[in-house]
Amino acid sequence: MSTTVITGIGELATNDPARSDEGGLLGLVHDAAVVVEGSRVAWVGPAADAPAADVQVDAGGRAVIPGFVDSHSHLVFAGDRSAEFEARMTGQPYTAGGIRTTVARTRAATDEQLTSHVARLVAEMRAQGTTSVEIKSGYGLSVHDEARSLAVARQFTEDTTFLGAHVVPVEFQGGTTPEDYVDLVTGPMLAAAAPHARWIDVFCEEGAFDVDQARAILAAGSDSGLRGRLHANQLTYGGGVQLACELGLVAVDHCTFLSDLDVESLRDSRTIATLLPGVEFSTRQPYPDARRLLDAGVRVALASDCNPGSCFTSSMALCIALAVREMRMTPAEALHGATAMGAAALARDDVGVLAPGMVADLVLLDAPSYVHLAYRPGVPLVAGVWQAGRPVVPG
Ligand SMILES: [Zn+2]
Repeated sequence: MSTTVITGIGELATNDPARSDEGGLLGLVHDAAVVVEGSRVAWVGPAADAPAADVQVDAGGRAVIPGFVDSHSHLVFAGDRSAEFEARMTGQPYTAGGIRTTVARTRAATDEQLTSHVARLVAEMRAQGTTSVEIKSGYGLSVHDEARSLAVARQFTEDTTFLGAHVVPVEFQGGTTPEDYVDLVTGPMLAAAAPHARWIDVFCEEGAFDVDQARAILAAGSDSGLRGRLHANQLTYGGGVQLACELGLVAVDHCTFLSDLDVESLRDSRTIATLLPGVEFSTRQPYPDARRLLDAGVRVALASDCNPGSCFTSSMALCIALAVREMRMTPAEALHGATAMGAAALARDDVGVLAPGMVADLVLLDAPSYVHLAYRPGVPLVAGVWQAGRPVVPG
């Protein structure tokens, strides 16, 4: 197996505090090297001690971080909602209803069109340092269209999420009731989706699905072998976060409107609060209070929520900059949230940390420190990406 040593790393963020003399969340090592063997990290430490390898890459004093783990995205869709964005920026509020516009476009697209669109977005993410991504369905909302959305997503990641319970589609409004749609989601749609999915998710929100419906959908998913996650407390206060904690879900996402009881429930659980600050940026809503969560001892991840309606960014660096500037996370907490905690939010123990045996997903920054991710917002700082040991963006 071929080995590569990346040496001359001015600052290496390992997310492994035991690896660092300096302590701290990120396990920083200065004047460091990483040896990659095949798809895995073989060695991490001071450059002066690095073993020889077949190929040597000189980082020239720049920083290396783990690849971003984006644990929340909606990449399978067709069309664009820039007109809705423009209207919102002109003063109209964001509601869950705009999702139905994308549903119509997605249903009309061919499998090939959906696949090439996801491929373009995944490449866009990779070029910005994202090496692991979760992809949800949720713009098909029929048995056929949810199953094929997940089959498309599966070509790009194992972390596919069935989100048939995104909104009640338009054909279920009027004559039938939302409960009829829940029956479809938990019955034939789940059966068709489950072979292509690892996770099940529900948009638990006013205008989408209530707590009782979410509970029933997550239970049905669990019976089909899917692990649960939840969109909750994005637009309003509600019972979604407490449901996620009660059920011991791996992650509950958004967490913008939280009562004291919600924060206590998160603190007393292992459930990760995944914050999606690109959404608040793109919908001009108040940001979640990350500081309140972190100070309470809640585990916090950051993700993009890349989707055509409420947040069409694929940039984890932007999410980090927003988390630092607008949500009072430290630069270290934000990077940790976008890497190690993103991995934890997907129950992945093979990515998000740079230590021997882990998947060799690394990003070389054109900067001396990871702090530049927040310090230089909007600047493309990714100078190289290795995904499973393979250079996918030339360093
Ligand atoms: Zn989402």
